[in-house]
Amino acid sequence: MSEPTIQLYNQDSYIKTFQATVLTCVKQLKEEQPDKPSYIVTLDVTAFFPEGGGQPSDTGNINGIIVIDVQEDDGIIYHIMEAPLSIGETVSGEINWDRRFDLMQHHTAEHIISGLIHKYFGYDNVGFHLGSEVVTIDFNGNLTEEDIRNIELKANLAVYENVPIKVTYPSSQELKELDYRSKKELSGNIRIVTIPGYDICACCAPHVALTGEIGGIKITSYQKYKGGVRISMLSGIRSLKDYNKKEKSVTDISVILSAKPDEVKDAVKNLKNENQTLKGQLLNVQNQILAYKAAAFQTGTDSICVFDKDVASASLRTYGNLLLEFCKGICAVFTTTDDQEYKYVLASKTMDVRPLGKSLNETFGGKGGGSKEMVQGSVRGKKEDIEAFINNIKI
Ligand SMILES: [Zn+2]
Repeated sequence: MSEPTIQLYNQDSYIKTFQATVLTCVKQLKEEQPDKPSYIVTLDVTAFFPEGGGQPSDTGNINGIIVIDVQEDDGIIYHIMEAPLSIGETVSGEINWDRRFDLMQHHTAEHIISGLIHKYFGYDNVGFHLGSEVVTIDFNGNLTEEDIRNIELKANLAVYENVPIKVTYPSSQELKELDYRSKKELSGNIRIVTIPGYDICACCAPHVALTGEIGGIKITSYQKYKGGVRISMLSGIRSLKDYNKKEKSVTDISVILSAKPDEVKDAVKNLKNENQTLKGQLLNVQNQILAYKAAAFQTGTDSICVFDKDVASASLRTYGNLLLEFCKGICAVFTTTDDQEYKYVLASKTMDVRPLGKSLNETFGGKGGGSKEMVQGSVRGKKEDIEAFINNIKI
């Protein structure tokens, strides 16, 4: 049985480089990439944090060779690497610090938010996703907008207080007396992360030393989720980037609409209302034009078959009804949406148009349906063929 790896991040999460001896190196072939083996390396000591506690694993390099992933099993840390290392060799490791620090900032922020929500509402953190883009925390109870903003404010006050974070390994007796958050029943040496005044939680992941390093905590959105709430949050540089992106969006909109940045909401509302009014006016004008077009037919015409690309799909029924005033038999109106596809209505005052619609659909691979007086649908084919089909109908 191998010795557990000495895990440097457990007591000092700021170790970025380290020296170690290679203990084992095993080539691994994946079925889906037979020409791209990876190598699983164990060391006597490491600063690479394996995936755990909701935090993704570190990346980085050992002797310049990329570490793709890091996993832990029974106290041994496995570094999954792009190329092999020699067993017994002394190597230098370097973790991708920017990534690690970003993850530590977000993870500690998550503890503060979870601790505060637990303290004020009694809800548990039941899900945590710490991704490189999105960070979400799920709670088993509902929160209002006001609750969320209160928690956000308190979380930021915790950042400004610059509270030192403590990592301890209490005895089983001490643990019994300790009120701490934990997702599962734990056994063995339990690592407790304490943010005095805010949170006590069992967690294996590295955290920042002082809450001030989080830089700020922004809850960017929240939504109902599985009977509770899912909160999305950002910290540090990521929240700054998010602010910049949103600020640019608002600024661009304000330039386009010639409105002050804090008045764009009203400007957009006005624009939407104007658009609605214009759509109504346009529809009226379109209907008037259709009435003129319909009036060009002689009253008492046997059947009418019209192809008109200027008739909007939404106005087909209106046009069909207008044409019926002039037609004894069947009115068919077609409008194109592309070269070969036509939307249509078939209407009649004197006969059931449903069998005709069915037959039209069958002949031209179409679909649609409707009432005895009017059917609507779409077909594909050549204009001449469709026209011939309609004109051949015996009334
Ligand atoms: Zn944690």
